[in-house]
Amino acid sequence: MTVIVRNATYESDLLRPLIFGMMDAMGGDKIGGKSRVLIKPNLLSPALPRQAVVTHPSVVRAVVEYCNQRGIRPLVADSPAMGSFDLVLRVSGIRNALRGLDCECRPFESSVRVDIGEPFGAIEIAEDAVRADVIVNLAKLKTHSQMFLTLAVKNLFGCVVGYRKPEWHMRAGIDRQAFARLIARIGRTLRPAFNILDGVLAMEGQGPGMRGVPREMGVILAGCDPFAVDQVVCRMLDLDPEQVPVLKAAREMGFPAPEAQIDGSLPEIRDFHLPRATSLIFGPKFLHGFIRRRALQRPVCNPVICRICGECWKICPAGAITPGQKPLRFDYDRCIRCYCCIEVCPFGALDIAETLVGRIFRGTPPQ
Ligand code: SF4
Ligand code: SF4
Repeated sequence: MTVIVRNATYESDLLRPLIFGMMDAMGGDKIGGKSRVLIKPNLLSPALPRQAVVTHPSVVRAVVEYCNQRGIRPLVADSPAMGSFDLVLRVSGIRNALRGLDCECRPFESSVRVDIGEPFGAIEIAEDAVRADVIVNLAKLKTHSQMFLTLAVKNLFGCVVGYRKPEWHMRAGIDRQAFARLIARIGRTLRPAFNILDGVLAMEGQGPGMRGVPREMGVILAGCDPFAVDQVVCRMLDLDPEQVPVLKAAREMGFPAPEAQIDGSLPEIRDFHLPRATSLIFGPKFLHGFIRRRALQRPVCNPVICRICGECWKICPAGAITPGQKPLRFDYDRCIRCYCCIEVCPFGALDIAETLVGRIFRGTPPQ
């Protein structure tokens, strides 16, 4: 298993040959004939390219150009967590970037049931992803308050259509590893043939939404196995893959990526700012009920920034945010700490805060 690593910028004339070379190396001849090709970028929410929330338009363009050159009209699709698909395409600059190219752009709509394996069984996944002959997974290198990092495997959770996403957050409850297992199973089931991770302008801090901080890293990674790509990111950031819940879950379920050979020179990044989220449940078992209520980190709102736009309470799977109240009111007994609200807040008004009891338990300093 080889993971290709290249220094890169978004300059189209430089990026195009680089992406073409990566696609060739991953088996570009799979794209041709009558193959149905799905390009799945990270289109989380309407955000500008410089905010590093979505896959950069130049990366999406280069892959569409590659497909066109091979005589294929690909489908570019995703299921944004916030905002309409059209709005995300427009604000991100992807709509403009794809002008003049032959492709179809639309959101995932219908789902089909697919057995992803134990303990989940059959779950609903976007029909376009399930029926595609070839998936090109165009992920963004970002931090993630709940899952630590969102990389190639996590990007495939976007193939769960719109309103089903928070439903899964709810079902996984506050068990982060259960949610990680779900994501790993989806990645294993969809098996994209092409995985490209956009880390030219990555995101650190409290990602994956507007609270994250863009970070120039100037790197793109690619490989046929999304788990291997994610493992190599851990090497690049000097992280134990066990710290990334999705990779830990994959190993526990017995499908670890083989040790990847690296084609290229892997940067050594030792000062990447990871999100503050700590393990959800800790301490002795008999205290777990108390810990859930009083000691878990929790979402908090900065009322000066909040504009009462409603995105957070619309997505909250637990109904834990009272609509229309300023300052925003959370019901922390209901809140499952999925952090969907932080992910979708368009103004970066939400953050994770430690409780006093949590600080005492964990021995963390005041924020
Ligand atoms: S916290 Fe963010 S998403 Fe929620 S109402 Fe305020 S501005 Fe909107
Ligand atoms: S308040 Fe935020 S973190 Fe809590 S359940 Fe709702 S969306 Fe998830």
